Amino acid sequence: MTEVVQNVAQPHITVENLNLWYGEKQALKNVSLKIPRNSVTALIGPSGCGKSTFCLSVLVKNCRIEGKVLIENENIYGMDVDVVELRKQVGMVFQKPNPFPMSIYDNVAYGPRIHGVNKKDIDGVVRNALRSAALFEETSDRLKSPALSLSGGQQQRLCIARTLAVKPGIILFDEPTSALDPISTARIEDLIMNLKKDYTIVIVTHNMQQAARISDYTGFFLMGELVEFGQTRQIFHSPREKSTEDYITGRFG
Ligand code: ADP
Ligand code: MG
Repeated sequence: MTEVVQNVAQPHITVENLNLWYGEKQALKNVSLKIPRNSVTALIGPSGCGKSTFCLSVLVKNCRIEGKVLIENENIYGMDVDVVELRKQVGMVFQKPNPFPMSIYDNVAYGPRIHGVNKKDIDGVVRNALRSAALFEETSDRLKSPALSLSGGQQQRLCIARTLAVKPGIILFDEPTSALDPISTARIEDLIMNLKKDYTIVIVTHNMQQAARISDYTGFFLMGELVEFGQTRQIFHSPREKSTEDYITGRFG
């Protein structure tokens, strides 16, 4: 939808006429939007409308894709793009916490080690990432314990720390709290709002209150189309499209 393209002077992520197919099935239809730096963008819409696919399209190209995704000003589908460099710029956190079966420390050190961070600097990177993910105080005396001994909420913060440790500019959260209890959810929401000063954040959520609480911008997807995109306040208080209003007021979904 052309109307969705907004005026953003220097977007961090620019998506232009993105179409994506899984075999015969088209999962994204002509999606265009611009995501400003240091903002939280919520993606909402019923199951199967393409939210996860949209996130993944910023990370990998593993199926038929037409259109452009620009990070800064570089088309990530360009022939000359260094995929390893790209992955470093974009982190992703999934619905189910998925720590590696290794220690808390090694989970966070994993990325920096792969990317060749100097051995003597790893300790500092790990500690900083755990601090930024609001997990350091709870784990500082047991960094060598298995990550899987942590609670679900702690595991999710560990996954966030693991992502932060490679210093991406962009973090995609795909329903990061839907497997968590309300207290763990609140901690992750606080964390996301804090991370915004250093990162550009996209979060898929089924929780309308969550989208309203923590996001600056909201995009509503329906059957592969981005129906409406705008400031969160506008989307929730005066949606332009009837289907957006029906969705956020719980009439379907
Ligand atoms: P959402 O995250 O909004 O629930 P998805 O992006 O997961 O939606 O899915 C969008 C559509 O693409 C759905 O119809 C889904 O069944 C389909 N789809 C997702 N992943 C695949 C895949 N790997 N292969 C085939 N179809 C897929
Ligand atoms: Mg999904």
